[in-house]
Amino acid sequence: MSPGEFRRLGHQMVDWIASYWERAHEYPVMSRAKPGEVFDSIAEHAPEQGMGREGWDGLLEEIERSIMPGITHWQSPNFFAYFPANVSGPAVLGELLSAGLGVQGMLWQTSPACTELEMRVLDWLGEAIGLPEAFLWRSRSVGGGVIQGTASEAALVAMVAARSRARAATGGDAQDKTLVAYASEQAHSSILKAALLCGLCKDASDKRSLRLVATGPDHSMNPQELERLMNLDILSGDRPFFVCASVGTTGSTAIDRIDAIANVINKVRIPAIVGKPWLHVDAAHAGAACICPEFRPWLQGVEQADSICFNPHKWLLTNFDCDCFWTRDHRAIVDAMSVTPEYLRNAATESGRVVDFRDWQVPLGRRFRSLKLWMVIKHYGLEGLRAHVREHVRLAKLFEELVLADARFETCAHRTMNLVCFRLRPVAGETPSQTDARNRELMDRVNAEGRIYLTHTALPVWEGGKRVAGAARLVLRMAIGATHTREEHVRGAWEIMQESAERR
Ligand code: PLP
Repeated sequence: MSPGEFRRLGHQMVDWIASYWERAHEYPVMSRAKPGEVFDSIAEHAPEQGMGREGWDGLLEEIERSIMPGITHWQSPNFFAYFPANVSGPAVLGELLSAGLGVQGMLWQTSPACTELEMRVLDWLGEAIGLPEAFLWRSRSVGGGVIQGTASEAALVAMVAARSRARAATGGDAQDKTLVAYASEQAHSSILKAALLCGLCKDASDKRSLRLVATGPDHSMNPQELERLMNLDILSGDRPFFVCASVGTTGSTAIDRIDAIANVINKVRIPAIVGKPWLHVDAAHAGAACICPEFRPWLQGVEQADSICFNPHKWLLTNFDCDCFWTRDHRAIVDAMSVTPEYLRNAATESGRVVDFRDWQVPLGRRFRSLKLWMVIKHYGLEGLRAHVREHVRLAKLFEELVLADARFETCAHRTMNLVCFRLRPVAGETPSQTDARNRELMDRVNAEGRIYLTHTALPVWEGGKRVAGAARLVLRMAIGATHTREEHVRGAWEIMQESAERR
């Protein structure tokens, strides 16, 4: 494809994307494709002959015919499922530029701009969420930020670094089987996955090396319970090495108290030889809101954390993938992850004056992802980004008020930001599992109809201030954060829920 052809077809593709954004609300939000349908609609064998430029009109038709039916429309303003995956014009243009430059930023030398723009933009965003200087590159100390693909990768990197630090503290003869990690029972499954990948847990049911700490009525980690478990483990000869605080849990956006957790870490009598456990803060979704000063108290105590991450690819107008990960001390990360074969040796690295981000992540290669984040921040400014977050929080509050005004429904968790957990109330004579089933039916009906899309979770049950042992209830999650969601969409969604509850 010549540059001239690329220019013409590129304009056509950008036009297509822009008009997709304009009409995203017209599609059924959740794809109706049946398993195998898209697979079967694509030619069984790769073409021997290229389609050439004439084929492109046909390709756009094929996208409409074969691909679009298999798309769930995350960019629809009526998408309220999971957490959002924001996309915006400046982010896509940054992504396009990154693809066009085709840079591989594994070493500083392989494109100094790829490393140094990333360092600067991570400082911008770190400052914007109120991180202490020690996490920023400009402190010229041992802290700094990097873009990981996902919060799951960030958790894995943090855990690998924590293990390396614990091993180093025991002079290298650490017994991995005595290492124990802690996270709340509401922590994201990526923490368990990290423990599995580190070889700490043998399977998902292995509770010995990853303790899931009980949560309180607000679904945040109970620090006393953390303290009790750590003390028990130390008594039996195990070695706490990693603690994850979740700021904005996936289930209900509950906020673990970083300062209370850090206090427990400081208080328990961990044998001096082992060193302090690594405290990682997973703020994958909620971190975006911390650019607003009113939400920053969620990060109180972060100065005591070893690392923190959040995903601009969720709620900060930056398309996937973009997880920002900061650490106060990168040495354990680099010690754990740096492998240098001869073909990667170079004078810049050896000078010790540059950062090679390959040592901060699992893969060797890396894309120029900071371009999109840079363009997003420059385009909207921090004030524009704050307005985006605040509007969704306002809309979630509005949705919560609408739910509370309808006697058939109830809210099921404290709302901290842009997520409302709610359900149909139990009716007389109904068992808990019948109430769950009625709510699931409501959700399935609404999603199948296609005008909106929302998902569910299970939350522990509290009654009269007491946890009902072993009980969990199904709740519906209304996550308001898609790029183009406005008040009319939220009001419309509520009307759909009401109508659908009526029709049953
Ligand atoms: N942590 C939390 C609290 C999340 O909500 C999620 C995803 O929703 C993750 C981690 C995993 O995110 P990622 O897809 O970036 O790995």
